[in-house]
Amino acid sequence: MILGAGISGLVSASVLSQQGCSNIVVVDEYAHVGGNHIDCTIGPYTFDIGSLIFQDDSPLLAHFPGLLPHYVPINPTWGRLNPQGVVTEYPISFRVDLFGAGPAEWVRILSSVAFCRLFRRKLSNARDFAQFWVGARLLNRSGLEHYMKRFYGLPPEQIDIKFAESRMLWIKEHASLRRWLPFSRGPNRRRQSKDSVPNRQLARPREGFARLYQAASDQLEQHGVKFLLGTDMRSLQKEGGVFVLDAGGRRLVAKRVVSTVPLPRVQRLCDMHLDENLRTITLISLFFSFSGTRGFGYSILYNFSHAGAWKRLTIYSDFYGPIDGREYFAVEVNADHVSGSVEAAAEDFRRHTSENRLFDGDLRLEGSHSISNAYPIYTDHADQRAASAISRLKEFGIESLGRQGGFDYQPTSRDTTLKAEAALRQT
Ligand SMILES: Cc1cc2nc3c(=O)[nH]c(=O)nc-3n(C[C@H](O)[C@H](O)[C@H](O)COP(=O)(O)OP(=O)(O)OC[C@H]3O[C@@H](n4cnc5c(N)ncnc54)[C@H](O)[C@@H]3O)c2cc1C
Repeated sequence: MILGAGISGLVSASVLSQQGCSNIVVVDEYAHVGGNHIDCTIGPYTFDIGSLIFQDDSPLLAHFPGLLPHYVPINPTWGRLNPQGVVTEYPISFRVDLFGAGPAEWVRILSSVAFCRLFRRKLSNARDFAQFWVGARLLNRSGLEHYMKRFYGLPPEQIDIKFAESRMLWIKEHASLRRWLPFSRGPNRRRQSKDSVPNRQLARPREGFARLYQAASDQLEQHGVKFLLGTDMRSLQKEGGVFVLDAGGRRLVAKRVVSTVPLPRVQRLCDMHLDENLRTITLISLFFSFSGTRGFGYSILYNFSHAGAWKRLTIYSDFYGPIDGREYFAVEVNADHVSGSVEAAAEDFRRHTSENRLFDGDLRLEGSHSISNAYPIYTDHADQRAASAISRLKEFGIESLGRQGGFDYQPTSRDTTLKAEAALRQT
């Protein structure tokens, strides 16, 4: 029995089926397959709750090759609004953020980097980590510090160092001196070898995720996997060595349970003690349509400025084309930064983007979506507390994995697929 039909649940079903397990059932309280890959259709527009972009070399496609023809190939570009009000490259622009800062600022930035590398070597949180690599001056000037707060939901000094070291390596890579040298072979200057083919960027089908993930569930169903979607789960207990799930008014019996739903959800089902301190971000997605002049050409724009609660926006009309002359896009906002209010989030976005001349014309809020458990907040040794909750579930007999079940910030479906494969192939 697999709880959750997101990427982790689908990959788990595929791996277990390949391992010869029979009578696999996937149960989800959501009425759709794909988990938090959620789209919202409003009038003629289809929005996603975030910036969901995939690649044609994803290991997910090895499990479900039938997904590939449903994706739309796209050419996304990633930019950022910096604290100086300039729209430039993401995550940092040598030309604008460094070269353009002028000689006096170069001296300040360089001395700040030298100071941090020499005298701030004890790294205890995400701020220390970022500061060590780029210096306090550039951390602030580039807007990275503000972006980190917007992203993690807490000031970076409250984010665990372990998380920074494992998930913020790109800062170290970008700050490496070798990267910026003219003949460097660093990441920025890496060339594709003659034979290597770059991967293609992909978006979901124009109509939404349903058609895409239907291909995965159809394939699993052909191998005997059953899906129970939109099924309310009441309790999960052990009786005589087997698990009994009370769901949708039925008693489902299984020898083995893999859970990919949020940790507190499965703990509650099993009547286990909850760790209230395992916190997650609630994400508000604002859906806008627009006609007029856009102050930037990027299809995905990050907010690195010192003001504005919004984190990132994604212009879907760059992928699927405008509708009746209107562009359409979604804006991600951490709910804690706007007291959970959609109105406050929208008002803040309008004001901030107008001050920065990002949208000059008719901007209409078409709708919104709010989701809890969007991603975990790594503070106060959350990784250790999550590991102990997962091991208590394991003792009870439940394998808990995935972005939700592992309390693990898995940034991509690629990462999620590899981790689900590794977890199930170990057992
Ligand atoms: C905003 C956003 C943008 C992303 N962008 C990308 C991207 O561009 N490319 C990419 O490859 N990946 C992206 N990801 C990450 C990727 O989607 C995840 O790694 C993967 O989907 C995790 O799958 P999962 O099955 O482990 O968990 P999920 O799909 O998160 O959830 C699994 C199951 O848990 C249950 N569940 C989850 N949340 C709740 C809730 N709030 N209440 C009740 N039940 C719940 C549901 O049953 C769900 O099916 C993004 C994720 C988010 C949230």
